[in-house]
This record gives sequence, C-alpha cells and structure tokens, in this order.
Amino acid sequence: MRRKLVAGNWKMHGSLAENEALLAGVLAGIASAKTDVAVCVPYPFLAQVQAKLSGSPIAWGAQNLSQHGKGAFTGEVSAAMLRDFGCKYVIVGHSERRSLYGETDEIVAAKFEAAQAAGLIPILCVGETLDEREGGVTEKVVARQLDAVIGRSGVGALADAVVAYEPVWAIGTGKTATPQQAQEVHAFIRGKIAALDPAVAQGLIIQYGGSMKANNAAELLAQPDIDGGLIGGASLVADEFLAICRAA
Ligand code: PGA
Repeated sequence: MRRKLVAGNWKMHGSLAENEALLAGVLAGIASAKTDVAVCVPYPFLAQVQAKLSGSPIAWGAQNLSQHGKGAFTGEVSAAMLRDFGCKYVIVGHSERRSLYGETDEIVAAKFEAAQAAGLIPILCVGETLDEREGGVTEKVVARQLDAVIGRSGVGALADAVVAYEPVWAIGTGKTATPQQAQEVHAFIRGKIAALDPAVAQGLIIQYGGSMKANNAAELLAQPDIDGGLIGGASLVADEFLAICRAA
C-alpha cells in the first residue's frame, strides 16, 4: 500500500508572524492525521520552518531550485542549500514556473535531476491547460512532461520522486477536477510508467493538485490512483489544511 502524502504549497504567501500562527495551528492538530505531511515554503522562511518543525511529523521543502550546482547565478538557490536547511522535498515544474518563468520541459528535467543528486525528493508537477483539455490533448501533454524527466533521469528515478497531477485550469480557480476526471489522468500516468517499470509505477505517489479543499478532499483521495494532494490556498488555513490531512 502506498502511503498518502499531503503537501502544502504556500506559494508567495506568509510572513514570520503569520507563519508562526499557521505552524502552531497545524502542529496542534497534526497528531490525528495518519498520512505523511509536508509544507513547501518560500526560501526566506526555510530557517523558520526548520526550527519549528524539526522533530515533528511534518516535513518541509521549497517550491523551486536552480538546475545548477553553484556559480554566478544571481538570485538562484541550489539543491545543496535546500538540504542545508533540512528540506526533504522540492516542487519542480509547477505550472506557475512553467507559464510565468519560462521553464521548459528540459529545464524542469534538469531541476529534477539536480534535486535528486542532492538527496531531495522532487515533487514533479504535470498538467494540462484548459485549451489543451478542450483540444483533447491532456494525455499527450502529461506524457510529454513525464517523458522529459524519464528521458534524462530514467524511469528508475521516479522511485525516489513524487508526481503531482495539477490541471492548470483547476489551480487557484475554485474549479476542482471531478474525482473521475482526476482519476482518469492519474491512472494514465501510472499506466504509462507501469509499461516501463511496473514496480516503480506501483510505488509511485501521484498527488492531485488544483483547488483541493476540506470539502472535496475525501472523494478525490478515495480514488484508487490518487495518493495525496498538493494544496495551495487551503494550506494557508490551519483547520482547512488539517481537515485535508485527516481525509487522506
Ligand atoms: P490551489 O493550488 O490549491 O490553490 O489550487 C495548488 C497548487 O498550485 O499547487
């Protein structure tokens, strides 16, 4: 049985004071969750979450990293730096990085590789836009995004990674994919990987992301191929995030 993983993606939200309250609230209720839980926070708050969450059941990570190890890359953050702050996970290829910051499939694959080389678990985001869904190319897009990583790192690399299926049209819009829509794509992803390596496919955690909330989490998480959630907006409210963790 795969363990479920619920990961918060705080995006560009928070302050030292706000985080203090949010983390206290989540820590106070987390014991009742039986799932794996993590929060992916903005870089400047990594020291804060490390101090607050060390020794707790909650892991932490970042939302991006450089594909380079070190050097003259002003403003960038390396995988080794994230490890220095105790990160376990790093989100790679979020649709906001792809669409707003020009991250191509090749850049995402390079970041995935850099993360694993430093011992981080990449949470690889894939998903189609509304146009792509309506154009009937959802599977083609998701396959292309996965193939970039598999082509570079090999299918075996997915044994130490998490995949997050995030339909772009569902992110931050309040429009969740129906459990059936999500399950279909999750099953496609697992099937595609199973054709290359059944054991890797069987063990792979595939999260759903896109307006997952307390009131829709249970039915999404009940689907056979949905192994958790990548939670944006709802991860900023302790009770909401905890309710999703308990539903998993
Ligand atoms: P959302 O974001 O839950 O606010 O839709 C999910 C994500 O982008 O990871």
